[in-house]
Amino acid sequence: MSKTIIVSNRLPLQLSIEDGKVSSEPSVGGLATGLKSVHRDSNGLWIGWTGLTVEETPQELESDIEDAVQNQQCAAVELTQSDMDGFYYGFSNRTIWPLYHYFMEYAEFDSENWEIYKSVNQKFADVVLENLEEGDNVWVHDYQLMLLPQLIKEKRPDVSIGFFLHIPFPSYEVFRTLPWRDQILKGLLGADLLGFHTYDYERHFLSSVSRILGHEVSFNEITYKDRHIKVDSFPMGIDYEKFHAFAKANYEQTDKTQSELQRRLDLHATATPDAKMILSIDRLDYTKGIANRLRAFEHFLEKYPDYTEKVRLVMLAVPSRSNVPQYQVLKKEIDELVGRINGKFSTVSWTPVWYFYRSMPFNNLIDLYTSCDVALITPIRDGMNLVAKEYIATRIDRTGVLILSEMAGASKEMNEALLINPNDINLIADTIKEALEMPEEEQKKRNKYMQKRLERYNVEKWAGDFMTKLDSVKSTQSVAK
Ligand code: UDP
Repeated sequence: MSKTIIVSNRLPLQLSIEDGKVSSEPSVGGLATGLKSVHRDSNGLWIGWTGLTVEETPQELESDIEDAVQNQQCAAVELTQSDMDGFYYGFSNRTIWPLYHYFMEYAEFDSENWEIYKSVNQKFADVVLENLEEGDNVWVHDYQLMLLPQLIKEKRPDVSIGFFLHIPFPSYEVFRTLPWRDQILKGLLGADLLGFHTYDYERHFLSSVSRILGHEVSFNEITYKDRHIKVDSFPMGIDYEKFHAFAKANYEQTDKTQSELQRRLDLHATATPDAKMILSIDRLDYTKGIANRLRAFEHFLEKYPDYTEKVRLVMLAVPSRSNVPQYQVLKKEIDELVGRINGKFSTVSWTPVWYFYRSMPFNNLIDLYTSCDVALITPIRDGMNLVAKEYIATRIDRTGVLILSEMAGASKEMNEALLINPNDINLIADTIKEALEMPEEEQKKRNKYMQKRLERYNVEKWAGDFMTKLDSVKSTQSVAK
């Protein structure tokens, strides 16, 4: 029976070693959920890295780890610490990530890291090729594996390969500054179907292919070495049902045991009973516009002093890539901004910014989504932004206002949100006021449309649509032969 092989940098599992025993749990992230039906139902295989480097793997447990990985229908790519340094922390996160998010001044062009990126992509290709059988499909994910489609296609031209990019694809003018632009494009063109979150990213990619490689591009099809490659947009959704059902259970449960967060929220409510809550959640990343958001909130408090003691910004920043220098600088900047705002505006009974630098378990995340009147999401650039979608999904009575950056992919599907330019501090301050004062009827009207859309185009539909398209590309190709 033919199968689909999914390939991503990390496997969708959590390995743990306790008292010399290895166990593995499936992870619960959005991608793993969306691909569950592709992975589990079709006898699929997921190939990726376990999260443990060769150096971190106890020799005597190697075969137990392999068994644990196999039990989850997965196969592991073994990576050393120096692979991770050059491929992941290096080329992926210090070159591609900043460049694709238009932070050109942060992009490092280091040829040693590029060599390691190539060799790690080859390691992934080797594991895929070992496991490929006739009639299989391969679906490759994201910017860490952009050379993989070509490495597979060279050896197995019969296999149908899909590729999905989870981050933006930048405009040609930005992409062309990359010294290895030709190789990256050729790597991607090993795929038969290339998917992006939005039409704009798709357009940028097509224009780079035609201007850099000179290949014929017509509408959304590329002709390359006698193959017709399709390019399309597939905006990734969320597990709507999970978020909505969990929030609904919370909403309906009146005598629930209170979480620590809920108790603190209640405490705050007694101190400042009519204070509204504005939510901010992201990984601490320079693409997320966290500093701008804080400046805008500061400006809002200055411009509209009537809101003193009447509003609070609850800010969750999840630690991320803290060994990369720009992330350390950003952390310091955020700490200082929070300190400055709280120092300047706090009163005896009110602290304007509540700042959490950590990740939160799922139920606390839902608490945050459901207790805040406004979500303020202002990335400078973001491939999609799932937090925006999750916030709307959890609003059971349909109240709540989403303020969303027009630079986030999600803004293309969430027109009923209050869309802002994240660099316009004054506009954000005014939009915060507009959000706080929006009549409930209007909030509900806007959210109803967005909820319907999110429910329909959920993450499973996203994965299903991609696979259906890949199958149709394959059948047109075989007819053409
Ligand atoms: N998230 C989480 N724990 C937290 C905060 C956030 O698991 O403490 C999740 C959140 O629910 C969302 C994801 O992290 O699904 C962030 O995805 P998004 O697309 O917004 O941004 P990314 O981090 O992928 O750039």
